[in-house]
Amino acid sequence: MMNAALWAVAAFALAVAVLLFVMGWYSPPTNNWLVHPRIFQWGSRAVEYVPGETALDRTYNYSGAVIIVGAGAAGLAAAKVLESNKIKYVILEATERYGGRVKADTTFADFPIDLAAEWIHNLPGILDVLSGRDNAASPPELVPWLLQESCEWDGRSLKTISTFTNNFAFRVFPEYKFKRSTWYRFVRERFAEKVEHRIQYSSPVAEVDYSKGQVTVTTTSGKRFVADKVIMTASVGVLRSGNIRFVPALSAQRTRALDAVEFKPGFKLVLKFSVKFYPDGINWALPSEDDGERGWYDMAFKKDAKSNVLGFLCTGAGTKPYYAMKSDEEIVTAVLNELDKIYDNQASRTFTGDYRLEDWGRKEFTRGMWVVGAETDESTLTEINTPLEDKVYFAGEAHDVNRQMGVPGAILSGLDTVDRLLSHGMRLASGENGCWGGSEQAVGLGESLVGSE
Ligand SMILES: Cc1cc2nc3c(=O)[nH]c(=O)nc-3n(C[C@H](O)[C@H](O)[C@H](O)COP(=O)(O)OP(=O)(O)OC[C@H]3O[C@@H](n4cnc5c(N)ncnc54)[C@H](O)[C@@H]3O)c2cc1C
Repeated sequence: MMNAALWAVAAFALAVAVLLFVMGWYSPPTNNWLVHPRIFQWGSRAVEYVPGETALDRTYNYSGAVIIVGAGAAGLAAAKVLESNKIKYVILEATERYGGRVKADTTFADFPIDLAAEWIHNLPGILDVLSGRDNAASPPELVPWLLQESCEWDGRSLKTISTFTNNFAFRVFPEYKFKRSTWYRFVRERFAEKVEHRIQYSSPVAEVDYSKGQVTVTTTSGKRFVADKVIMTASVGVLRSGNIRFVPALSAQRTRALDAVEFKPGFKLVLKFSVKFYPDGINWALPSEDDGERGWYDMAFKKDAKSNVLGFLCTGAGTKPYYAMKSDEEIVTAVLNELDKIYDNQASRTFTGDYRLEDWGRKEFTRGMWVVGAETDESTLTEINTPLEDKVYFAGEAHDVNRQMGVPGAILSGLDTVDRLLSHGMRLASGENGCWGGSEQAVGLGESLVGSE
């Protein structure tokens, strides 16, 4: 009897401790994995890793030249620092647009739509850090992603998710969305507009040769660029594909580390309806969490919009049936059919025929959706962040040592990387290391930034 009471008290105390921990009221004093699981060190829970200032708030004196590969959030952020410090650089972008995995459509509905990154998985204060102290752009208005009505669908039955669960989810992992803006606009106004004139579009990089004193970067059309340093921001999916040849080749250890980063295929489908027959969110349960994510959500949630726009996100193994289909139309029909099963044919009856499908998993220069940062361990982060002979640096969402996620992680990684590169270059130029020609050599190389056939 006594034993049972003690067990009950112990179980209750343990439950309270776990609850307090999960709710964030107790902050463990150690980084021990057991008491400080990685999931609680990323995104909105990684407050302690957010830097007080970034490269945007510092000045640099570097006379070398830099090639940035990729005009996504990371590349554009790094470029802004080079631009404001009057350092020679060029951005080689594979596609005909900047932004990478930030992309918007402003004509589809009566509010702008993000076709890739959409949520701020971080506390809103991160936006000020990413903007830098000198930022003149006005702060965007945000809405909390605190769902009021949501459900779970398992392919047969629909279960309502309780208000308690929605509140709890928001408390554990708060997320926000832009009310009238987009991630694309945020990146455009803070970064792209300042550096756009330095982007060479339709320039896929095929080879990075760092075997000599300077780095030679060759595009698929054979155009060559030479500089002192390179910042490589292609996604983990692109790096893994082997489409960019490194000379010397990447080590087996680095290749294994890149393989260890969780980066799944997937797509976003945006559908327009004449009537809103759906709740704020519908999670489509998959057999295992390892299979990725699949679900619908109201893209107009709290946007004061009249358009009825439903987003469908699908990643990981959940994409298999769709990737076996022959056309985008077939995918749209399959997604509508599933909704029809849940909502008594209301989906196909009210579908306006308007949709956007962005298949990020199968785009040649992306090859995936987002990195599951919480799955990346410290040694992997260190390995993929180590520059190649202090000449080729890596940046992008997967490389963020500040443990933010998605766009904030990509931007901070771009800023951190350029800071490391320039700080090291400045030390060398001032003779601290004493073994490298510093400014003289750097200027000479800088002049050869212009590509040659
Ligand atoms: C559908 C979707 C939803 C998402 N949702 C969110 C969200 O809600 N919130 C969030 O914060 N994040 C989200 N993300 C993740 C977020 O978009 C990315 O983390 C971030 O944009 C990555 O930026 P990056 O600069 O690291 O990489 P990228 O955006 O991939 O940029 C890399 C750039 O390099 C270019 N490139 C690639 N190969 C070459 C080459 N060989 N030569 C030259 N250029 C090359 C590419 O074209 C691209 O422009 C989402 C992503 C997707 C796809």
